[in-house]
Amino acid sequence: MAETQYFMLPGPTQVPPRVLRAASMPMINHRGPEFKAVFTEVTALLKKVFNTENDLFIFTASGSGGMEASVSNFINPGERVLVASMGNFGSRYRDVCRKMGAEVDFVEFPWGTPVDARVIAQKLAEDKNREIKAVFCQHNETSTGVYNDLQAISLARGDHPALLIVDAVSSVGALPIKTDEWGLDVVVSASQKGLMCPPGLAYMTVNERAWQAAEKCVNACYYFSIKLAKEFLANSQTPFTPGVSTLFAQREALRMIFEQGLDEYIADHFFRRRLVRAGIEAMGLTYLAGEEWASPAVTAVHVPQGFKPSDIVAPLREKFNIVLAGGMGKLKESTFRIGHVGYMNVMDIVVALAGVELALRRLGHPVVLGSGVAAAQELLAQGF
Ligand SMILES: *Cc1c(COP(=O)(O)O)cnc(C)c1O
Repeated sequence: MAETQYFMLPGPTQVPPRVLRAASMPMINHRGPEFKAVFTEVTALLKKVFNTENDLFIFTASGSGGMEASVSNFINPGERVLVASMGNFGSRYRDVCRKMGAEVDFVEFPWGTPVDARVIAQKLAEDKNREIKAVFCQHNETSTGVYNDLQAISLARGDHPALLIVDAVSSVGALPIKTDEWGLDVVVSASQKGLMCPPGLAYMTVNERAWQAAEKCVNACYYFSIKLAKEFLANSQTPFTPGVSTLFAQREALRMIFEQGLDEYIADHFFRRRLVRAGIEAMGLTYLAGEEWASPAVTAVHVPQGFKPSDIVAPLREKFNIVLAGGMGKLKESTFRIGHVGYMNVMDIVVALAGVELALRRLGHPVVLGSGVAAAQELLAQGF
């Protein structure tokens, strides 16, 4: 296998060599003084990314571990929750909530559109007895390439006491997130998407309101217990052996993000979104997401009629080491996805567009070679 790939998944994502070198540092004692310095710095920088002063927990887990923690710590068996979904990860929240014994009200919006906050407002207004304990949603739905207006969803609660619990796994770093300002009670993310780091760590912020729910929660929760984690947090430690090497990596990646500037780093993602969409459009393909809520992290593209995602993804991987993602859930057979989240050179996008054109040509689908590439180049020329 070639060591160099054009690696364009919506997670895991490319890891800068500087971050990989940091991950290769010798092991340290996770109960010793050197660990405290790493843990404290990572926590402080993550809080700046999340725009929060809430508690922030670091779990050694993938993002789904964080999702589980965001249910099991706050929701008791038998309690009602509202899961607002617009794609495959919304279904995952539904499944996790059900496994944890919650009574799930599943509200699904058409895949390719965001959550309509008015529907959430209506659902909560109908809940006269205030039985709904939490609203769950994604910040960015990775299966469709659509993001949500979290502030609108938060405000839609009005004076209903339901917590707002957000899966921001694929958005943190790619989209601004104002955890405290928007009143997001719990936010979950992970190391391997917009945070330029290998997989292995999940992050979760918890505010005062969420803590009140946690105090009353008796759900089965051991590894992911925030009550236990809070005791260790006082000493800048975790209850169990953390992914030390990934923490080294995450510290380096966060330093890089702040050297560039968080706003600039996020803005890069919005520019990549423009490049991808211009290119896809110019070659005559269509994407799922409308302009307004199109994700800066990932673009889901419809496969032309008569073909499967693997007709495009597989030959690009085999022939050119271009790694794109297939579809997910009910889009599995009809879309492929170009990830543009995290660490990336914009030229990777030009290469991916060139690759997609070649794959279409190979399939006999009408395409003007260079059309997508040229559209992206026009945008690049403006700033060059
Ligand atoms: C990637 C992702 C997750 C977590 O996936 P893991 O494979 O468990 O890390 C959760 N939610 C969203 C929206 C994601 O994109």
